[in-house]
Amino acid sequence: MQETRDKNIIYGKVLTVAGSDPSGGAGIQADIKAISAMGAYAMAAITSLTVQNTLGVTRAEPVAADLVRDQVLACLDDIGADTLKSGMLFNEAIITVLSDVIKNCDIPYVLDPVMVSTSGHDLLQPVAQKALKEKLIPLASLVTPNIPEAMALTGMTRIETVEEMQEAGEKILALGAGAVLIKGGHASGDTLVDLLVFADGSHTFESSRIDTPHTHGTGCTLASAIAARLAQGMELEAAVRRARNYVHQAILEAPGFGGGHGPLNHLVSETGKG
Ligand code: PLP
Repeated sequence: MQETRDKNIIYGKVLTVAGSDPSGGAGIQADIKAISAMGAYAMAAITSLTVQNTLGVTRAEPVAADLVRDQVLACLDDIGADTLKSGMLFNEAIITVLSDVIKNCDIPYVLDPVMVSTSGHDLLQPVAQKALKEKLIPLASLVTPNIPEAMALTGMTRIETVEEMQEAGEKILALGAGAVLIKGGHASGDTLVDLLVFADGSHTFESSRIDTPHTHGTGCTLASAIAARLAQGMELEAAVRRARNYVHQAILEAPGFGGGHGPLNHLVSETGKG
């Protein structure tokens, strides 16, 4: 398996279906950078245009659902993809066309259930949460909710402990997902714990929490790095470990741009430790 970026070889093809962040920290822009940093080939079908910067999202408009579908098919029918990743999907119409395409695809699908920006702007219409649960989660190889997203998907009112993360993961597995990575970034404590829950077990990942405002687009970046590693043939647990290491390093070396929650440094190389 080719894991490194030596000899300028591109290995693994990932199609991301997500929203645009013109400031380059999150969404499609983050996805393309993260996938490229893993040495894989990035394709991007855009679901929505947002107006945002490090201070927050001020506007979001969807792309017509049939235009999203045609972008996806243009990629799959020609270049093809080894993994599909979705982020901001905005509305039910886009969820429906995407589920129709994925049903006919036999490749791993990483679903980042993006709902609300850190600044509080809806990135998925609340009425579309039901469609996300019913139409896309059953098709996903991996779902990557943060704690607020896991609460929305499960109806749980409290997810703080690892036991509660496990319960949330099992509830999302029961919706039909292949595996669930509950991200503990919104929990408290000096150690950041993410829990990977799958049908016959679970795995805990721990890292030291970095005290920084520069975490814009962390979820997009992590899901894209996982998708790239899966595209390169890595097993799920290894893909998550490697992607977490990369994101940790990318936060540590964030450039400090903007007046709010700044972007990561997507160009770092991961440490490979962990
Ligand atoms: N904008 C877009 C287009 C996104 O897809 C996402 C998250 O997935 C965000 C913004 C959220 O960014 P933040 O990390 O600031 O909450």
